[in-house]
Amino acid sequence: MQASDRITHLNPGGDDGWGLYQRSKAMVAQGIPVAELTIGEHDIGTDARILDAMAAAAAAGNTGYAPVPGMDRLRDAIAARVTAQSGIATTRDNVAVTPGGQAGLFAAHIATVDPGDAALMIDPYYATYPGTLRAAGARPVIVPSFADDGFQPSVKALDTAARSGARSLLINTPNNPTGAVYSHATLEGVANVVTAWNMWLISDEVYDSQVWHGTHISPRALPGMAERTLVVGSLSKSHAMTGSRLGWIVGPEDTIAAIHNLSTATTYGVAGFIQEAGLHALSLGPQFEAEIAAPFRRRRDLLLGKLDHQQVLRAVPPDGAMYVMVDVRGTGLTGEAFAEALLEHERIAVMPGASFGKAAIGHIRVALTLPDAAFDEATDRLINFAIKVASI
Ligand code: PLP
Repeated sequence: MQASDRITHLNPGGDDGWGLYQRSKAMVAQGIPVAELTIGEHDIGTDARILDAMAAAAAAGNTGYAPVPGMDRLRDAIAARVTAQSGIATTRDNVAVTPGGQAGLFAAHIATVDPGDAALMIDPYYATYPGTLRAAGARPVIVPSFADDGFQPSVKALDTAARSGARSLLINTPNNPTGAVYSHATLEGVANVVTAWNMWLISDEVYDSQVWHGTHISPRALPGMAERTLVVGSLSKSHAMTGSRLGWIVGPEDTIAAIHNLSTATTYGVAGFIQEAGLHALSLGPQFEAEIAAPFRRRRDLLLGKLDHQQVLRAVPPDGAMYVMVDVRGTGLTGEAFAEALLEHERIAVMPGASFGKAAIGHIRVALTLPDAAFDEATDRLINFAIKVASI
């Protein structure tokens, strides 16, 4: 039997961008030690207090079907965090709970784009984006951003792409993989484009707690934007809860109500004991989020400091998120070839830039996700390897 065109063509390039990561995982499973600097997974587990809340909720019997839109108390807590963080009044009626930000990205596109419609996204991008848009029936239209602009997208290029009739624009700030935190000017320009062309803005803000320079601005808070913006959020990165699969969409009440119907037809909600854990996580407040984020800032500074002392590798210093994009063209290798060689010779796994689009070719993405001492050792070896390759 033939599978549908939609699922067969989710990733037409063949490799979905995760090939090297899968290979490094297979090596670890065979007992080969690999320094894992690939995916955005914390080196710590979920905090014991959150796990206790999860276990207590399950033990108390919260194991049946949970409210599909999300528990009212959790939606209130998410709304309170969004209000405090963005400055725009938000209530539970603006919130749909989803199984992680990823499910939120999919639902947000289903909610805003009809089959075959163009949906804009920016390159470099989080590796799941093209497949997510295609899975939702959209036709991804990719607009490049450039290292020379600090990976801030060009408003002119967005306007040109929008001109041909797109329904939505997906942005991500703080950005994975580049670490760009979009400036007020960029976001104002983005707002002008989506307003002028009557488009939806889908704003992926899952890294909103990881800002090293500047300020995270939620574009939903800009004048006139609340009615055309869906914000995707998650506890994965902010609370080290990647495996719990707990995220949300924030947007206009009528669209959120329609997304609840979509959840009924797809996920049927998120486990009640996970929602209780999320509620407890949010009750720990901004101080807890700062504690979870702190190691990434430390390791970012450490790696940038080392890069200052050599000539082969270069990086645009990330203003946020848990990665550093390193330009490896000085080695004479492509990002893919360098990542392959690094895995083979040094047993260090990084993501090839090409996993994140054409604009990231020639780069690797280094995740700041090993404990400090191991990160220090692995990045020394990475840099020495690059210097050796460049000298051949
Ligand atoms: N958006 C971005 C930019 C990401 O990097 C990730 C995960 O790495 C996600 C969304 C999805 O996160 P989750 O589904 O764990 O909430």
